[in-house]
Amino acid sequence: MEVTLLEATDDPEEVICTGARNDYMSDFVGDQTFEERMASIEGDDIEEKKRTLIGHLLSHGHYGPFEHVQATFAVKGISRSCMAQITRHRHVSFDVQSMRYVAFDDVDPEAVGEGEMVVTPPSASDPDWIGRNQKGGAVDDETIEKREEIFQESVKRSVEEYQELLDLGMPPEDARFVLPIGTEVNMVMSMNARMLMHVADMRAAADSQWEIREMTERVLDLAKEWCPITFAYYEENMKNRKNRLAP
Ligand SMILES: Cc1cc2nc3c(=O)[nH]c(=O)nc-3n(C[C@H](O)[C@H](O)[C@H](O)COP(=O)(O)OP(=O)(O)OC[C@H]3O[C@@H](n4cnc5c(N)ncnc54)[C@H](O)[C@@H]3O)c2cc1C
Repeated sequence: MEVTLLEATDDPEEVICTGARNDYMSDFVGDQTFEERMASIEGDDIEEKKRTLIGHLLSHGHYGPFEHVQATFAVKGISRSCMAQITRHRHVSFDVQSMRYVAFDDVDPEAVGEGEMVVTPPSASDPDWIGRNQKGGAVDDETIEKREEIFQESVKRSVEEYQELLDLGMPPEDARFVLPIGTEVNMVMSMNARMLMHVADMRAAADSQWEIREMTERVLDLAKEWCPITFAYYEENMKNRKNRLAP
């Protein structure tokens, strides 16, 4: 899996603070410099003033200003299962690689599941891995070897049969029906900072599946570089909060 930041609002925390200052000023923010808009906020310099205001907004649940700034991420090589989970978030915009227009006809079936075309979950090869609704706990070496063998054989066979159906003239949009749900997909997604916090509330949480959790943690790392005060505050004070209905 790879996650990169493609594009994002410039100076996002100036935009967030300006949105918020607009709500409580008689003057028009459009006529003022950023320093003038922030004049009455506590702090020795502009960075400290931003920290004061953003901390105040987040601690009081004033989340609207965080909707003005947006980031676009490119995600490579997540499973279709993970894609189905993240695309449930209705305020995120997506572009998803098509299996109607992209045919995986040149993939080597022997490499499938070993870094190629199908994501292999850690529980296929880690005897100590504990997942949700699992029968039993840690397993012995013999069991894990068997598990890995069945998994790898199954995904290889699916891809071989998919490619055979393409060779027999079946359209990619129909041949794909035999592919596993672990088949990799690339995606572009955009969301505003408020939504990013909501996605993180739900998908970086311990009860989420390992793959979407890993993707969300990577998104959060990039968000911390893009919008540092906001996501440092989020990490220190809000992450893993119990009430995860909406930020
Ligand atoms: C651990 C976990 C397990 C899950 N298991 C399942 C499962 O088994 N089956 C399944 O179908 N889904 C499952 N989901 C998905 C979950 O039910 C949500 O559909 C998904 O996470 C989207 O989040 P959201 O409801 O907050 O909506 P989002 O689309 O992210 O919207 C954000 C917020 O906007 C508001 N909102 C958006 N649309 C509406 C609306 N139409 N009406 C009212 N308020 C709205 C809500 O406050 C919502 O929280 C699971 C999610 C998690 C995290």
